[in-house]
Amino acid sequence: NEVLLEAKGIRKYFPIKKGLFQLAPSYVKAVDDISFQVFKGEALGIVGESGCGKSTTGRLLIRLIEATAGEVLYKGNNLLNFPNEKMRVIRKDLQMIFQDPYSSLNPRMTIGETLEEPLQNFQFVNKRERKEKIEELLKVVGLGQQAAFRYPHEFSGGQRQRIGIARALSLDPELIIADEPVSALDVSIQSQILNLLQDLKEKFSLTYIFISHDLSVVNHFCDRIIVMYLGRVVEISTKENLFRDPLHPYTQALLSAVPIPNPLAKKERIILSGDVPSPSSPPNGCAFHPRCKACIPRCKTERPSLKQMPNGGYVACHLYD
Ligand code: SF4
Ligand code: MG
Repeated sequence: NEVLLEAKGIRKYFPIKKGLFQLAPSYVKAVDDISFQVFKGEALGIVGESGCGKSTTGRLLIRLIEATAGEVLYKGNNLLNFPNEKMRVIRKDLQMIFQDPYSSLNPRMTIGETLEEPLQNFQFVNKRERKEKIEELLKVVGLGQQAAFRYPHEFSGGQRQRIGIARALSLDPELIIADEPVSALDVSIQSQILNLLQDLKEKFSLTYIFISHDLSVVNHFCDRIIVMYLGRVVEISTKENLFRDPLHPYTQALLSAVPIPNPLAKKERIILSGDVPSPSSPPNGCAFHPRCKACIPRCKTERPSLKQMPNGGYVACHLYD
């Protein structure tokens, strides 16, 4: 498997205002030392409950926010210390699709203008070329040519997501990071957009990072899955292994709550007790230990590291030492 992009030890600590009676400043560790590889041509899912750091991770990779530490290797370069001017060029390759494309579309620009902007900034100097490219983009995402003359508010949620996808495709990217791309849509529309993303992946040989809280969506779409909890990676696995034989107790609990037909597993719903702890004061040791039924004494003091398993996956849990 060819590695397209690799995250190494990335962290994002947001400082919280120091209180009057605190000696040291404290931080929200939104992303706390995570590493993974993205293989060329795969759809890699990142799942976890809201606040687990999955969206932050996606944004760190392409520097929509700046990491506190770590490396993101892409074609031999560490993007995290790349000069801004070079980063601007690399960003053509690495595009993002958001949950709500409406908030990232300029309401005063027609769709044609919105799509023309990145083309103008990069390779398409010639007017006729730009027009042809825009027509092609509208076609591949299933919108009529008239869409170019209309404004964002004239479109439904699903159509707006198609526009967001067209924009992400406009500069022929290598990798698309999709952050909850169907979460805001009706279920009937969700599968249309997922099918579109699937078709585009084949057509343009794309690689996806697909961020979602919804395991059934990820199940439909992804080849491998990263499970995050409180800013950390707890498990990385192929989709098949993860759904058949989840290793981490947190993954087991997540999966037990999803109505995915799985004839091999006799599933019993595992109810997670307690709330997700605040990432500003994560529990010591294994961050999952206050909610874990399998907790052993060392879990409370020692943070488990991510270890490779015989099946090729990775898990961060003392039960597998
Ligand atoms: Fe549970 Fe311990 Fe494994 Fe954490 S390390 S998931 S507390 S068994
Ligand atoms: Mg999010």
